[in-house]
Amino acid sequence: MLSSWLENESGTTFPRIRFLLIYVKRGYKGKTMGQVIDKTYNGLKVPQGDKMTFKDGKPVTPNHPIIPFIEGDGTGRDIWKASVRVIDAAVKKAYGEEKSIKWFEVYAGEKAKDATGEWLPEDTLAALKEFGVGIKGPLTTPVGGGIRSLNVSLRQIFDLYCCVRPVRYFKGVPSPVVAPEKLDVVIFRENTEDVYSGIEYVAGSAEAKKFIDLCESLGKKVRPDSGIGIKPISKFGSQRLIKRAMEYAIERGKKSVTMVHKGNIQKFTEGAFRDWGYELAAGEEPFKTKIVSEETLWDKMDGKMPADKILLNDRIADSMFQQVLTRPDEYSVLATTNLNGDYLSDACAAQVGGLGIAPGANIGDDCAIFEATHGTAPKYADKDVINPGSVILSGAMMLEYMGWVEACNLIHEGLAKTIQQKKVTYDLERLMSGATKLKTSEFGDAIISNM
Ligand code: NAP
Repeated sequence: MLSSWLENESGTTFPRIRFLLIYVKRGYKGKTMGQVIDKTYNGLKVPQGDKMTFKDGKPVTPNHPIIPFIEGDGTGRDIWKASVRVIDAAVKKAYGEEKSIKWFEVYAGEKAKDATGEWLPEDTLAALKEFGVGIKGPLTTPVGGGIRSLNVSLRQIFDLYCCVRPVRYFKGVPSPVVAPEKLDVVIFRENTEDVYSGIEYVAGSAEAKKFIDLCESLGKKVRPDSGIGIKPISKFGSQRLIKRAMEYAIERGKKSVTMVHKGNIQKFTEGAFRDWGYELAAGEEPFKTKIVSEETLWDKMDGKMPADKILLNDRIADSMFQQVLTRPDEYSVLATTNLNGDYLSDACAAQVGGLGIAPGANIGDDCAIFEATHGTAPKYADKDVINPGSVILSGAMMLEYMGWVEACNLIHEGLAKTIQQKKVTYDLERLMSGATKLKTSEFGDAIISNM
Protein backbone atom coordinates (compact mmCIF):
# COMPACT_ATOMS: atom_id res chain seq x y z
CA MET A 1 0.00 0.00 0.00
CA LEU A 2 2.66 2.48 1.06
CA SER A 3 4.78 1.69 -1.93
CA SER A 4 2.02 2.70 -4.35
CA TRP A 5 2.16 6.23 -2.97
CA LEU A 6 5.83 6.46 -3.79
CA GLU A 7 5.73 5.15 -7.28
CA ASN A 8 7.15 7.31 -10.01
CA GLU A 9 5.15 7.93 -13.13
CA SER A 10 6.27 4.69 -14.75
CA GLY A 11 5.06 2.76 -11.72
CA THR A 12 8.50 1.89 -10.33
CA THR A 13 9.18 2.33 -6.62
CA PHE A 14 12.35 4.27 -5.92
CA PRO A 15 14.89 1.80 -4.45
CA ARG A 16 16.07 4.15 -1.67
CA ILE A 17 12.48 4.88 -0.74
CA ARG A 18 11.83 1.15 -0.57
CA PHE A 19 14.43 1.06 2.18
CA LEU A 20 12.44 3.74 3.98
CA LEU A 21 9.24 1.76 3.71
CA ILE A 22 10.86 -1.07 5.64
CA TYR A 23 12.06 1.51 8.14
CA VAL A 24 8.63 3.09 8.54
CA LYS A 25 6.83 -0.26 8.70
CA ARG A 26 9.12 -1.42 11.52
CA GLY A 27 7.81 1.64 13.27
CA TYR A 28 8.65 3.48 16.44
CA LYS A 29 6.07 1.97 18.68
CA GLY A 30 8.37 2.30 21.68
CA LYS A 31 8.90 6.08 21.29
CA THR A 32 10.11 7.48 24.59
CA MET A 33 10.84 10.96 25.85
CA GLY A 34 14.42 11.84 26.65
CA GLN A 35 17.40 13.65 25.28
CA VAL A 36 18.44 12.70 21.79
CA ILE A 37 22.16 12.74 21.30
CA ASP A 38 24.67 11.92 18.61
CA LYS A 39 22.22 11.55 15.75
CA THR A 40 22.42 13.15 12.36
CA TYR A 41 19.94 13.37 9.50
CA ASN A 42 21.08 14.61 6.11
CA GLY A 43 24.46 15.22 7.82
CA LEU A 44 22.90 17.69 10.31
CA LYS A 45 23.21 17.02 14.02
CA VAL A 46 20.00 16.77 16.03
CA PRO A 47 19.88 19.48 18.74
CA GLN A 48 19.58 18.58 22.40
CA GLY A 49 15.93 18.35 23.34
CA ASP A 50 13.12 15.85 23.80
CA LYS A 51 10.94 13.84 21.49
CA MET A 52 7.23 14.33 21.14
CA THR A 53 5.26 11.19 21.91
CA PHE A 54 1.69 10.23 21.01
CA LYS A 55 -1.06 8.65 23.09
CA ASP A 56 -4.36 7.61 21.47
CA GLY A 57 -3.56 9.75 18.43
CA LYS A 58 -2.87 12.87 20.52
CA PRO A 59 0.54 14.49 21.14
CA VAL A 60 2.24 14.45 24.51
CA THR A 61 4.51 17.50 24.48
CA PRO A 62 7.70 17.77 26.51
CA ASN A 63 8.89 21.24 27.56
CA HIS A 64 11.70 21.36 25.02
CA PRO A 65 10.51 19.36 21.99
CA ILE A 66 12.69 18.83 18.94
CA ILE A 67 10.64 20.06 15.99
CA PRO A 68 11.86 19.41 12.44
CA PHE A 69 11.24 22.21 9.95
CA ILE A 70 11.39 22.34 6.16
CA GLU A 71 12.23 25.88 5.14
CA GLY A 72 10.54 25.60 1.76
CA ASP A 73 11.57 26.69 -1.73
CA GLY A 74 11.42 30.13 -3.34
CA THR A 75 9.81 32.57 -0.95
CA GLY A 76 9.92 29.84 1.72
CA ARG A 77 13.34 31.14 2.76
CA ASP A 78 12.12 34.65 3.60
CA ILE A 79 8.90 33.34 5.11
CA TRP A 80 10.66 30.86 7.38
CA LYS A 81 13.15 33.46 8.70
CA ALA A 82 10.28 35.72 9.78
CA SER A 83 8.01 32.91 11.03
CA VAL A 84 10.51 31.20 13.29
CA ARG A 85 11.21 34.49 15.08
CA VAL A 86 7.49 35.06 15.66
CA ILE A 87 6.89 31.51 16.96
CA ASP A 88 9.92 31.64 19.28
CA ALA A 89 8.94 35.08 20.60
CA ALA A 90 5.42 33.86 21.40
CA VAL A 91 6.71 30.81 23.26
CA LYS A 92 9.20 32.92 25.20
CA LYS A 93 6.60 35.52 26.12
CA ALA A 94 4.13 32.85 27.23
CA TYR A 95 6.47 30.54 29.16
CA GLY A 96 9.83 32.27 29.70
CA GLU A 97 12.62 29.69 29.96
CA GLU A 98 10.25 26.89 31.01
CA LYS A 99 9.42 25.87 27.46
CA SER A 100 11.19 26.27 24.12
CA ILE A 101 11.25 24.67 20.70
CA LYS A 102 14.47 22.99 19.59
CA TRP A 103 14.28 23.53 15.84
CA PHE A 104 15.92 20.98 13.58
CA GLU A 105 16.23 21.66 9.86
CA VAL A 106 15.36 18.81 7.52
CA TYR A 107 15.76 19.10 3.79
CA ALA A 108 13.07 18.74 1.13
CA GLY A 109 12.52 20.28 -2.29
CA GLU A 110 15.22 22.24 -4.11
CA LYS A 111 17.45 22.56 -1.05
CA ALA A 112 17.39 18.79 -0.61
CA LYS A 113 18.09 18.22 -4.30
CA ASP A 114 21.15 20.48 -4.08
CA ALA A 115 22.41 18.99 -0.81
CA THR A 116 21.66 15.29 -1.34
CA GLY A 117 20.61 14.78 -4.96
CA GLU A 118 17.09 13.80 -3.90
CA TRP A 119 13.89 15.84 -3.64
CA LEU A 120 12.68 14.10 -0.52
CA PRO A 121 15.62 12.34 1.18
CA GLU A 122 14.95 9.29 3.30
CA ASP A 123 16.73 11.02 6.22
CA THR A 124 14.09 13.75 6.14
CA LEU A 125 11.30 11.20 6.29
CA ALA A 126 13.05 9.30 9.06
CA ALA A 127 13.51 12.51 11.10
CA LEU A 128 9.85 13.50 10.69
CA LYS A 129 8.84 10.00 11.71
CA GLU A 130 11.09 10.10 14.75
CA PHE A 131 10.11 13.54 16.03
CA GLY A 132 6.43 13.33 15.09
CA VAL A 133 5.51 17.00 14.65
CA GLY A 134 6.97 19.20 11.92
CA ILE A 135 6.32 22.40 10.02
CA LYS A 136 7.04 23.25 6.41
CA GLY A 137 7.10 26.12 4.01
CA PRO A 138 5.89 25.74 0.42
CA LEU A 139 7.73 23.27 -1.83
CA THR A 140 8.23 23.25 -5.56
CA THR A 141 6.54 20.32 -7.24
CA PRO A 142 9.21 18.76 -9.47
CA VAL A 143 8.00 18.76 -13.06
CA GLY A 144 8.62 15.65 -15.17
CA GLY A 145 9.34 12.06 -14.30
CA GLY A 146 10.05 12.04 -10.59
CA ILE A 147 8.04 11.29 -7.53
CA ARG A 148 4.70 13.01 -7.44
CA SER A 149 4.04 16.19 -5.43
CA LEU A 150 6.23 16.27 -2.33
CA ASN A 151 3.29 17.57 -0.32
CA VAL A 152 1.07 14.67 -1.39
CA SER A 153 3.90 12.21 -0.73
CA LEU A 154 4.42 13.48 2.82
CA ARG A 155 0.70 13.19 3.57
CA GLN A 156 0.54 9.68 2.24
CA ILE A 157 3.78 8.27 3.67
CA PHE A 158 2.79 9.31 7.18
CA ASP A 159 -0.92 8.60 6.74
CA LEU A 160 -1.79 12.21 7.59
CA TYR A 161 -5.45 11.51 6.96
CA CYS A 162 -6.86 14.70 8.34
CA CYS A 163 -6.28 18.04 6.62
CA VAL A 164 -7.33 20.80 8.99
CA ARG A 165 -7.91 24.32 7.70
CA PRO A 166 -9.24 26.92 10.15
CA VAL A 167 -10.78 29.88 8.34
CA ARG A 168 -11.42 33.05 10.32
CA TYR A 169 -11.37 36.73 9.54
CA PHE A 170 -8.74 39.19 10.75
CA LYS A 171 -10.27 42.63 11.02
CA GLY A 172 -8.96 44.98 8.35
CA VAL A 173 -8.04 42.35 5.74
CA PRO A 174 -9.64 43.26 2.42
CA SER A 175 -12.37 40.76 1.57
CA PRO A 176 -14.73 40.32 -1.39
CA VAL A 177 -17.80 39.92 0.87
CA VAL A 178 -19.78 42.38 3.01
CA ALA A 179 -19.48 40.64 6.39
CA PRO A 180 -16.40 38.39 6.29
CA GLU A 181 -16.24 38.24 10.11
CA LYS A 182 -19.33 36.01 10.10
CA LEU A 183 -17.32 33.10 8.71
CA ASP A 184 -15.40 31.25 11.41
CA VAL A 185 -15.11 27.59 10.50
CA VAL A 186 -12.61 24.77 10.85
CA ILE A 187 -12.60 22.44 7.87
CA PHE A 188 -11.62 18.78 8.37
CA ARG A 189 -10.88 17.36 4.93
CA GLU A 190 -10.22 13.66 4.42
CA ASN A 191 -6.72 13.51 2.96
CA THR A 192 -6.05 10.01 1.64
CA GLU A 193 -9.03 8.73 -0.35
CA ASP A 194 -11.51 9.91 -2.97
CA VAL A 195 -10.33 10.85 -6.46
CA TYR A 196 -6.93 11.70 -4.92
CA SER A 197 -6.04 8.08 -4.27
CA GLY A 198 -4.14 8.03 -7.56
CA ILE A 199 -6.09 5.29 -9.36
CA GLU A 200 -6.35 6.81 -12.82
CA TYR A 201 -5.91 5.42 -16.30
CA VAL A 202 -5.41 7.35 -19.50
CA ALA A 203 -8.03 7.01 -22.24
CA GLY A 204 -7.14 4.24 -24.69
CA SER A 205 -4.81 2.39 -22.27
CA ALA A 206 -5.11 -1.34 -21.65
CA GLU A 207 -6.02 -0.57 -18.02
CA ALA A 208 -8.80 1.84 -19.00
CA LYS A 209 -10.15 -0.75 -21.43
CA LYS A 210 -10.14 -3.40 -18.67
CA PHE A 211 -12.22 -1.15 -16.46
CA ILE A 212 -14.60 -0.29 -19.28
CA ASP A 213 -15.03 -3.99 -20.04
CA LEU A 214 -15.63 -4.70 -16.35
CA CYS A 215 -18.30 -2.00 -16.23
CA GLU A 216 -19.93 -3.46 -19.31
CA SER A 217 -19.98 -6.92 -17.67
CA LEU A 218 -21.85 -5.26 -14.78
CA GLY A 219 -24.37 -3.78 -17.17
CA LYS A 220 -22.94 -0.22 -17.18
CA LYS A 221 -22.09 1.67 -20.33
CA VAL A 222 -18.88 3.74 -20.50
CA ARG A 223 -17.71 5.40 -23.73
CA PRO A 224 -14.66 3.52 -25.09
CA ASP A 225 -12.56 6.70 -25.39
CA SER A 226 -12.94 7.56 -21.69
CA GLY A 227 -10.17 8.14 -19.21
CA ILE A 228 -10.88 6.33 -15.96
CA GLY A 229 -10.54 7.62 -12.41
CA ILE A 230 -11.59 5.68 -9.33
CA LYS A 231 -13.14 7.25 -6.25
CA PRO A 232 -12.74 4.95 -3.24
CA ILE A 233 -14.33 6.14 0.02
CA SER A 234 -14.11 3.71 2.93
CA LYS A 235 -15.97 3.41 6.20
CA PHE A 236 -12.62 3.33 8.04
CA GLY A 237 -11.31 6.46 6.29
CA SER A 238 -14.57 8.37 6.69
CA GLN A 239 -15.13 7.53 10.33
CA ARG A 240 -11.61 8.33 11.52
CA LEU A 241 -11.88 11.76 9.86
CA ILE A 242 -15.38 12.51 11.21
CA LYS A 243 -14.26 11.28 14.63
CA ARG A 244 -11.48 13.89 14.67
CA ALA A 245 -13.92 16.63 13.70
CA MET A 246 -16.37 15.62 16.45
CA GLU A 247 -13.59 15.34 19.06
CA TYR A 248 -12.40 18.80 18.09
CA ALA A 249 -15.91 20.22 18.44
CA ILE A 250 -16.30 18.63 21.89
CA GLU A 251 -12.87 19.78 23.11
CA ARG A 252 -13.38 23.37 21.91
CA GLY A 253 -17.05 23.69 22.81
CA LYS A 254 -18.13 24.25 19.21
CA LYS A 255 -21.83 24.28 18.49
CA SER A 256 -22.02 21.99 15.45
CA VAL A 257 -20.32 19.58 13.08
CA THR A 258 -21.59 19.59 9.51
CA MET A 259 -20.78 16.73 7.13
CA VAL A 260 -20.46 18.07 3.59
CA HIS A 261 -21.03 15.55 0.80
CA LYS A 262 -22.53 14.96 -2.61
CA GLY A 263 -24.55 11.97 -1.47
CA ASN A 264 -27.61 12.90 -3.50
CA ILE A 265 -25.70 11.81 -6.62
CA GLN A 266 -22.85 9.57 -5.42
CA LYS A 267 -24.78 7.48 -2.93
CA PHE A 268 -22.27 4.75 -2.12
CA THR A 269 -19.26 7.02 -1.68
CA GLU A 270 -20.35 10.52 -0.63
CA GLY A 271 -23.70 9.34 0.73
CA ALA A 272 -21.99 6.55 2.65
CA PHE A 273 -19.57 9.10 4.15
CA ARG A 274 -22.55 10.86 5.70
CA ASP A 275 -24.26 7.63 6.84
CA TRP A 276 -21.06 6.34 8.47
CA GLY A 277 -20.73 9.67 10.29
CA TYR A 278 -24.23 9.42 11.79
CA GLU A 279 -23.61 5.76 12.63
CA LEU A 280 -20.40 6.64 14.51
CA ALA A 281 -22.08 9.48 16.41
CA ALA A 282 -24.98 7.27 17.48
CA GLY A 283 -22.92 4.23 18.39
CA GLU A 284 -19.80 5.39 20.24
CA GLU A 285 -19.01 7.35 23.38
CA PRO A 286 -18.44 10.21 24.01
CA PHE A 287 -20.38 11.08 20.85
CA LYS A 288 -23.53 9.19 21.86
CA THR A 289 -23.84 11.42 24.93
CA LYS A 290 -22.54 14.69 23.56
CA ILE A 291 -23.89 14.81 20.02
CA VAL A 292 -27.44 15.24 18.71
CA SER A 293 -28.24 14.60 15.07
CA GLU A 294 -30.43 17.05 13.18
CA GLU A 295 -33.05 14.32 12.76
CA THR A 296 -33.22 13.69 16.53
CA LEU A 297 -33.33 17.43 17.17
CA TRP A 298 -36.53 17.79 15.13
CA ASP A 299 -38.14 14.38 15.76
CA LYS A 300 -37.56 14.20 19.50
CA MET A 301 -36.58 17.64 20.79
CA ASP A 302 -38.95 19.90 18.91
CA GLY A 303 -35.99 21.75 17.41
CA LYS A 304 -34.74 22.91 20.83
CA MET A 305 -31.04 22.22 21.08
CA PRO A 306 -29.82 21.50 24.66
CA ALA A 307 -27.07 23.97 25.59
CA ASP A 308 -24.52 21.27 26.47
CA LYS A 309 -24.87 19.29 23.23
CA ILE A 310 -23.33 19.59 19.79
CA LEU A 311 -25.40 19.35 16.64
CA LEU A 312 -24.37 16.90 13.92
CA ASN A 313 -25.95 17.71 10.57
CA ASP A 314 -25.12 17.34 6.89
CA ARG A 315 -25.32 19.48 3.80
CA ILE A 316 -25.04 18.74 0.10
CA ALA A 317 -21.77 20.24 -1.15
CA ASP A 318 -23.29 22.66 -3.70
CA SER A 319 -25.71 23.98 -1.08
CA MET A 320 -22.80 24.38 1.35
CA PHE A 321 -20.98 26.68 -1.08
CA GLN A 322 -24.06 28.92 -0.99
CA GLN A 323 -24.49 28.68 2.76
CA VAL A 324 -20.95 29.78 3.61
CA LEU A 325 -21.78 32.96 1.69
CA THR A 326 -25.39 33.49 2.75
CA ARG A 327 -25.54 32.04 6.31
CA PRO A 328 -21.89 31.67 7.37
CA ASP A 329 -22.53 32.10 11.09
CA GLU A 330 -24.66 28.93 11.18
CA TYR A 331 -21.59 26.75 10.64
CA SER A 332 -18.68 25.91 12.83
CA VAL A 333 -16.84 22.62 12.15
CA LEU A 334 -17.09 21.08 8.67
CA ALA A 335 -16.11 17.46 7.96
CA THR A 336 -15.84 16.51 4.33
CA THR A 337 -14.40 14.24 1.68
CA ASN A 338 -11.15 15.02 -0.11
CA LEU A 339 -12.31 16.79 -3.29
CA ASN A 340 -15.12 18.77 -1.63
CA GLY A 341 -12.66 19.80 1.07
CA ASP A 342 -10.08 20.97 -1.45
CA TYR A 343 -12.58 23.30 -3.14
CA LEU A 344 -14.30 24.40 0.04
CA SER A 345 -11.08 25.31 1.89
CA ASP A 346 -9.89 27.66 -0.82
CA ALA A 347 -13.34 29.18 -1.35
CA CYS A 348 -13.67 29.91 2.38
CA ALA A 349 -10.10 31.25 2.56
CA ALA A 350 -10.87 33.62 -0.33
CA GLN A 351 -13.97 34.84 1.49
CA VAL A 352 -11.92 36.07 4.47
CA GLY A 353 -9.14 37.64 2.42
CA GLY A 354 -7.17 35.07 0.54
CA LEU A 355 -4.53 32.39 0.73
CA GLY A 356 -1.60 34.56 1.90
CA ILE A 357 -2.68 34.12 5.51
CA ALA A 358 -4.55 30.79 5.44
CA PRO A 359 -2.90 28.16 7.65
CA GLY A 360 -3.15 24.39 7.35
CA ALA A 361 -2.19 21.14 9.00
CA ASN A 362 -2.04 17.52 7.96
CA ILE A 363 -2.61 15.30 10.94
CA GLY A 364 -2.36 11.55 11.49
CA ASP A 365 -2.31 9.38 14.58
CA ASP A 366 1.41 9.66 15.29
CA CYS A 367 2.59 12.47 13.06
CA ALA A 368 1.43 15.97 12.16
CA ILE A 369 2.86 18.42 9.64
CA PHE A 370 1.82 22.07 9.65
CA GLU A 371 2.19 23.95 6.39
CA ALA A 372 1.67 27.00 4.25
CA THR A 373 -1.37 26.61 2.03
CA HIS A 374 0.07 28.71 -0.81
CA GLY A 375 2.89 27.81 -3.19
CA THR A 376 6.47 29.03 -3.52
CA ALA A 377 5.61 32.24 -5.44
CA PRO A 378 9.09 32.02 -7.06
CA LYS A 379 9.08 35.50 -8.62
CA TYR A 380 9.29 37.02 -5.11
CA ALA A 381 12.02 34.68 -3.82
CA ASP A 382 14.67 36.31 -1.59
CA LYS A 383 13.14 39.79 -2.07
CA ASP A 384 11.86 39.98 1.52
CA VAL A 385 8.39 41.07 0.35
CA ILE A 386 6.10 38.05 0.61
CA ASN A 387 3.37 37.66 3.25
CA PRO A 388 4.55 35.14 5.88
CA GLY A 389 1.09 34.98 7.51
CA SER A 390 0.23 31.46 6.34
CA VAL A 391 3.31 29.83 7.91
CA ILE A 392 3.07 32.03 11.02
CA LEU A 393 -0.55 30.98 11.57
CA SER A 394 0.37 27.36 10.80
CA GLY A 395 2.94 27.72 13.56
CA ALA A 396 0.18 29.00 15.86
CA MET A 397 -1.91 25.95 14.94
CA MET A 398 1.06 23.73 15.75
CA LEU A 399 1.41 25.36 19.18
CA GLU A 400 -2.28 24.83 19.85
CA TYR A 401 -2.00 21.19 18.74
CA MET A 402 0.94 20.78 21.16
CA GLY A 403 -1.21 22.21 23.95
CA TRP A 404 0.69 25.51 24.10
CA VAL A 405 -2.48 27.52 23.73
CA GLU A 406 -1.17 30.70 25.43
CA ALA A 407 1.61 31.01 22.84
CA CYS A 408 -0.87 30.33 20.03
CA ASN A 409 -3.15 33.10 21.30
CA LEU A 410 -0.26 35.56 21.45
CA ILE A 411 0.45 35.02 17.76
CA HIS A 412 -3.20 35.56 16.85
CA GLU A 413 -3.28 38.69 18.97
CA GLY A 414 -0.04 40.06 17.47
CA LEU A 415 -1.13 39.38 13.91
CA ALA A 416 -4.63 40.80 14.44
CA LYS A 417 -3.25 44.03 15.94
CA THR A 418 -0.64 44.45 13.19
CA ILE A 419 -3.28 44.15 10.47
CA GLN A 420 -5.61 46.54 12.31
CA GLN A 421 -2.74 49.05 12.40
CA LYS A 422 -2.71 48.66 8.60
CA LYS A 423 0.87 47.46 8.66
CA VAL A 424 0.89 44.74 6.02
CA THR A 425 2.91 43.16 3.23
CA TYR A 426 2.48 44.17 -0.44
CA ASP A 427 -0.35 41.75 -1.21
CA LEU A 428 -2.68 43.31 1.36
CA GLU A 429 -1.29 46.85 1.06
CA ARG A 430 -2.30 47.07 -2.61
CA LEU A 431 -5.91 46.36 -1.60
CA MET A 432 -6.13 48.60 1.50
CA SER A 433 -6.33 52.38 1.56
CA GLY A 434 -3.87 54.19 3.82
CA ALA A 435 -1.85 51.05 4.63
CA THR A 436 1.88 50.92 5.30
CA LYS A 437 3.75 48.40 3.16
CA LEU A 438 6.11 46.25 5.25
CA LYS A 439 8.79 43.80 4.19
CA THR A 440 8.40 40.16 5.23
CA SER A 441 10.92 40.62 8.04
CA GLU A 442 9.33 43.90 9.20
CA PHE A 443 5.90 42.26 9.30
CA GLY A 444 7.36 39.59 11.61
CA ASP A 445 8.88 42.34 13.82
CA ALA A 446 5.53 44.15 14.00
CA ILE A 447 3.70 40.98 15.08
CA ILE A 448 6.27 40.38 17.82
CA SER A 449 5.99 43.93 19.12
CA ASN A 450 2.18 43.63 19.12
CA MET A 451 2.04 40.43 21.18
P1 NAP B 1 1.75 30.27 -5.65
O1 NAP B 1 3.18 29.99 -5.38
O2 NAP B 1 0.82 30.10 -4.51
O3 NAP B 1 1.69 31.79 -6.16
C1 NAP B 1 0.67 32.34 -6.94
C2 NAP B 1 0.46 33.78 -6.57
O4 NAP B 1 -0.26 33.83 -5.34
C3 NAP B 1 1.72 34.60 -6.31
O5 NAP B 1 2.30 35.06 -7.50
C4 NAP B 1 1.13 35.72 -5.46
O6 NAP B 1 0.29 36.57 -6.24
C5 NAP B 1 0.17 34.96 -4.58
N1 NAP B 1 0.80 34.46 -3.34
C6 NAP B 1 1.14 33.19 -3.02
N2 NAP B 1 1.65 33.12 -1.80
C7 NAP B 1 1.63 34.38 -1.30
C8 NAP B 1 2.04 34.96 -0.08
N3 NAP B 1 2.58 34.24 0.91
N4 NAP B 1 1.93 36.30 0.06
C9 NAP B 1 1.40 37.05 -0.90
N5 NAP B 1 0.99 36.56 -2.09
C10 NAP B 1 1.10 35.24 -2.29
O7 NAP B 1 1.22 29.36 -6.84
P2 NAP B 1 1.93 28.83 -8.15
O8 NAP B 1 2.69 29.99 -8.77
O9 NAP B 1 0.88 28.17 -8.92
O10 NAP B 1 2.97 27.73 -7.68
C11 NAP B 1 4.38 27.92 -7.57
C12 NAP B 1 5.01 26.62 -7.06
O11 NAP B 1 4.50 26.29 -5.76
C13 NAP B 1 4.76 25.37 -7.93
O12 NAP B 1 5.94 24.60 -7.99
C14 NAP B 1 3.68 24.61 -7.17
O13 NAP B 1 3.72 23.25 -7.42
C15 NAP B 1 4.07 24.91 -5.75
N6 NAP B 1 2.97 24.78 -4.76
C16 NAP B 1 3.29 24.33 -3.53
C17 NAP B 1 2.33 24.25 -2.54
C18 NAP B 1 2.74 23.76 -1.17
O14 NAP B 1 3.91 23.53 -0.94
N7 NAP B 1 1.81 23.58 -0.24
C19 NAP B 1 1.01 24.67 -2.81
C20 NAP B 1 0.70 25.17 -4.07
C21 NAP B 1 1.70 25.23 -5.06
P3 NAP B 1 0.71 37.98 -6.92
O15 NAP B 1 1.70 37.66 -7.96
O16 NAP B 1 -0.59 38.50 -7.44
O17 NAP B 1 1.27 38.86 -5.85
